[in-house]
Amino acid sequence: MNPYRLPRSVVPHRYTLALEPDLAAATFVGHVIIDANVNEPVQQIVLNAIELDVSEVKVGGRVAPFVLDEATERLVIDVADEPGTTAIEITFTGILNDKLRGWYRSTFTDADGNQQVIATSQMQATDCRRAFPCFDEPDFKAVFDITLIVEPHLLAVSNAPETERVEQPNGKVAVRFAETMPMSTYLVAVVVGPLESTPAVMVPRLDDPEHPIALRIIHVPGKGHLTQFGLDVGAYALDWYQRYYGIAYPTEKCDMLALPDFAAGAMENLGCITYRESLLLADPATSTQLELQNLADVITHELAHMWFGDLVTMKWWNGIWLNEAFATFMEVACCNDYRPDWKRWASFSLERSAAFEVDSLASTRTVEYPVEAPADCDGMFDVLTYQKGGSLLRMLEQYITPEGFRQGVSHYLSTHEYGNTETSDLWDRIEESVSGTPVRALMDSWIWQAGYPLVSARLEGSDLLLSQQRFAYGDTDDPTLFVVPIHLLVDGQETKVLLDGADLRITIADATSTVVVNAGGHGYYRVSYDATLRSRLLGPALATLTVLDRYNLVDDAWNEVVAGRLAAADFLTFVEGFSAEREYAVWQAIAIGLRGIGRLVEGDALQAYRTRVANLVRPVLADLGWAPTEGEGDLTAKLRGLLVGVLAVLGDDADAQQRCRELITTTTDPELIAAATNAIAAVGTDADYDEYLARFRNPATPQEELRYMYALAEFPSREQIERTIALAFSGEVRTQNAPFLLNRCIANRWQGNYAWQEVRKHWDDANDKFPNNTIVRMIDPVKLLTEPAVVADVQSFFSEHPIPQAAKTLDQVLERQRTNAALAEREAERLGEALQA
Ligand SMILES: [Zn+2]
Repeated sequence: MNPYRLPRSVVPHRYTLALEPDLAAATFVGHVIIDANVNEPVQQIVLNAIELDVSEVKVGGRVAPFVLDEATERLVIDVADEPGTTAIEITFTGILNDKLRGWYRSTFTDADGNQQVIATSQMQATDCRRAFPCFDEPDFKAVFDITLIVEPHLLAVSNAPETERVEQPNGKVAVRFAETMPMSTYLVAVVVGPLESTPAVMVPRLDDPEHPIALRIIHVPGKGHLTQFGLDVGAYALDWYQRYYGIAYPTEKCDMLALPDFAAGAMENLGCITYRESLLLADPATSTQLELQNLADVITHELAHMWFGDLVTMKWWNGIWLNEAFATFMEVACCNDYRPDWKRWASFSLERSAAFEVDSLASTRTVEYPVEAPADCDGMFDVLTYQKGGSLLRMLEQYITPEGFRQGVSHYLSTHEYGNTETSDLWDRIEESVSGTPVRALMDSWIWQAGYPLVSARLEGSDLLLSQQRFAYGDTDDPTLFVVPIHLLVDGQETKVLLDGADLRITIADATSTVVVNAGGHGYYRVSYDATLRSRLLGPALATLTVLDRYNLVDDAWNEVVAGRLAAADFLTFVEGFSAEREYAVWQAIAIGLRGIGRLVEGDALQAYRTRVANLVRPVLADLGWAPTEGEGDLTAKLRGLLVGVLAVLGDDADAQQRCRELITTTTDPELIAAATNAIAAVGTDADYDEYLARFRNPATPQEELRYMYALAEFPSREQIERTIALAFSGEVRTQNAPFLLNRCIANRWQGNYAWQEVRKHWDDANDKFPNNTIVRMIDPVKLLTEPAVVADVQSFFSEHPIPQAAKTLDQVLERQRTNAALAEREAERLGEALQA
């Protein structure tokens, strides 16, 4: 008997659920009838429940004895039953907790200064059992017939549309919703509160124009003016996905809810998607491109799940990675079509790099792994699932062609609709659609093996020799081989080859050819060229490469520095060759390297570094102009903001800092305002601090709230950061945000060591207060602290204070810190000398 899996002898097919919350008391009463099939004679019926007070259980209309086992989170009903159908009826009460899981309480202060309460739910992965007794495993799909009994002035929302309202003797109203399609318990949503809704936007349903999809945004009162952008993205994506998948939206309506308290970013509850406010509500006139893109990303991500995840669902939690990787892939694909000018696939490079960073460590993990306890999958919600998984799907899509991939996905969804699948089902359905490519073998080599390869390219006469070796920071002779799909560009002619062994010899016609390996830049691997091939890609040839190819050249070079195979001074010289570069994504890669270098030096060497940075960036900024020009693209404005920040902060340029102070009051350009906000903070006075704090406390939009809050972690002095840390622990910053504010404090170039000491001091408090899944993210920037004494302190602290819900991620942070410490030790002196030479 697996303690984490319920017996399959009794299988539910329908829940008739009634829940009545008392928002003021933070409690609820509930009643559920579960219609189930009994497949074999049983002596017990076993389902899940925890933190519920069960008062009565009836099976087949007769009262039955039961035991609630808190340790296994099970309700065991002692009843003999014969094969056939049965009805399990349970009466219970529960609490609306403050832990942001199960059915929980979210609060906000209304316009009159009164605290208001919302009862909202987050069931994934295994918290539906906190809201009502249920068979809480993803392959127990069932129909849900839900009724919420609420005060008449409150809005009640669930997965399906409202069908009926019946007044109750106690003055409340019973709001009943339509039956859902068969779905998993982790997708159930029940929300009650003093909320408002936008009018519905009607989106045509594929092949059924008579029944359009009603799309609404639900929010706390007074925020309706921030819903237009989210509705626009949502309507676009609903239409786009129906056409991409070739399948109509699988349920009646689509509500998107902006909630004041939410532990994750958003949750794909069928037809009732929940979000953090900052990821659904925005004012486009004052938001930066990135702030809007974050909304578009998350909205398109969640809507992708309505089919992939909700209509077709993983059998067990080991499949969660594919669920998330796929939605990540689709979010970028959909966004890229929504706003082609945002070049979303180019900016996705940065996300791939985040995965590379972890995947270059010895402590990385395979993408998929066996999951026994549901908690084992907690560690799957990381960059290796979302960013690496999404990158692998992009690599596959580009190799077998986008249309072939799309057909395979559509075939998979229609074959398995309303059902549950294993990962290999997707590869097999794609392979059936695009014959001739060993999709399963190819993907298995990336899913079941940790890490990724460095593909080396060298010339031997007119032969091109490709070879692969697992990439690692530090030395490795790891023999792992991957099936690497390679797009090769030889003098502008593209061919595709599979590097499925240690090496591959390709004859090219002309020994003087320019060769690009990983052309287009979508492969999940790094490339190392020999000196001859490399020299042909630099200089004027750079301009002939795609944005992603150039991004990869910079990113690969910086990681060779981290790995100890390229001197930091040489990297600096290398990026000084990019003065003609005008693409945002490439500059972002350059800025990451520059920021890393800036942490390696102090004193005179730091001054010399600042001069080099300023000399590189100043002419580019002068060329772009300090003011937006009429009709320029969003990415041009974004690049200007990035360069202003690099010049003012990394370059410590007094003129740029002064201009930022002027800009903050004179410009209306969101990119300049955001850049100046951070640049001023980096050298900010106590008066600046007070002003930022006031603006954080009274923001016009969720984006402005976050912008000023995070800027409070950028200030330079000990006393200022002390105030920010106190603020994070004061309860004034929501627990969903406080860990990320502390994260920024630890990342502070000047006060990071101090911030770490403070977080260390308040460790128990942080663990008590903040959501479980945010603890490891809070301390992630300790990887930037490289002084030997601090490294020793961090490493020994965590050997005594493990983070069990994120053990693997913690290992990776600690290894990354050791890698950076080695980098600092290797480079500090020789880089300093090179800079001052
Ligand atoms: Zn997701």
